[in-house]
Amino acid sequence: MEAMKQYIEDAEKALLHTYNRYQIVLDRGEGVYLYDIEGKKYLDFASGIAVFALGYHNEAYNEALKMQIDKLIHTSNYYYNVPAVEAAKKLKKVSGMDRVFFTNSGAEAVEGAIKAARKYAYLKDGRTDHEIIAMEHSFHGRTMGALSVTGNPKYREAFEPMIGNIKFAQMNNFDSVKELVTEKTCAILFETVQGEGGIYPAEKKFMEQIKALCEERDILLILDEIQCGMGRTGTMYAWQRYGVKPDIMTTAKALGCGIPVGAFLMTEYVAKRSLTSGDHGTTYGGNPLAAAAVNKVLDLFEENHIIENVNAVAPYLEEQLDLLAETCNFIEGRRGTGLMQGLVCKGAVGEVINKALDNGLILISAGTNVIRLVPPLVITKKNVDEMIGILKKCLQA
Ligand SMILES: *Cc1c(COP(=O)(O)O)cnc(C)c1O
Repeated sequence: MEAMKQYIEDAEKALLHTYNRYQIVLDRGEGVYLYDIEGKKYLDFASGIAVFALGYHNEAYNEALKMQIDKLIHTSNYYYNVPAVEAAKKLKKVSGMDRVFFTNSGAEAVEGAIKAARKYAYLKDGRTDHEIIAMEHSFHGRTMGALSVTGNPKYREAFEPMIGNIKFAQMNNFDSVKELVTEKTCAILFETVQGEGGIYPAEKKFMEQIKALCEERDILLILDEIQCGMGRTGTMYAWQRYGVKPDIMTTAKALGCGIPVGAFLMTEYVAKRSLTSGDHGTTYGGNPLAAAAVNKVLDLFEENHIIENVNAVAPYLEEQLDLLAETCNFIEGRRGTGLMQGLVCKGAVGEVINKALDNGLILISAGTNVIRLVPPLVITKKNVDEMIGILKKCLQA
């Protein structure tokens, strides 16, 4: 206990105070379990915020990274490298998109998507005052462009002015979007399933109406799949279930399973009419190490039938969460899809999450009132039972 306290004290003196961290120091992981530096074991239903889809200490993944480290870690994008070519080809195949730009984070993928949309519109009409419609309750990252399209005024206020010409509509309210469209609108942007904002899945009808509107007005549809993508909702990308294909999409989080990497992808049609040489760049993006991670992650998704596991376990998770919601007064209900679930509560959930941590269960929130469940995609029904057992105990207390 003393050692852990000391590290936390040191951290509070050395790190910028931008997070209210949970009071544990994590040390190592094994499958769906994490251990702190004192050896205490935690069942992990957060996976480092929907990142470690494959579970911790995956031998094949670790080996692939070690091999790439010994070979070549970085080259810059002035040259080609084999892992990036292979990763881009695989990503095209699983997404059905045509062109890939690798980034180092989710926010950076969103930045690229915004630039691509603006350039597309600029080439069309030469205007420099294009507008983007984003959604309330959305989250797209903390850099200035991504923050500008994030629908939470609390995150934005102190950092105004934002990039400008951003309008906010309501998710699943088509009229609220349509009302905002003008001849300057270049893109409509949203998360197929909103994550940080409280786990709000898009409705199929909304997706279809938006797609039709975009086609009619030559507006680009940008879907942010950073959290809901990579198999989490039972298809590689959540939009694939709806049959509504975006013009541009973003991916990150589980894409590298812990190695920082993201990407924005687009159709050939948009690629031919937007960013061109000199328009965008990154020193690290898609470097051999990051690309080796993407390669191995995509291989393991197939070899280990990750998406099949999501589809096998998710209905059970939903059933158990619904049962819990029925028997617990504090829970209002459940929202979500696949292994991206939220328990909507009647009050702030911080205390429950801390109690769960004491009892060896890692959970996170989405907004103040929602317990967010985004476990590694390799969980079993037994893990679900274990989670429910601990959570039940914490809710009763
Ligand atoms: C996490 C997240 C981001 C930002 O990703 P970072 O890697 O933290 O920059 C953007 N969009 C969504 C939907 C996210 O969940």
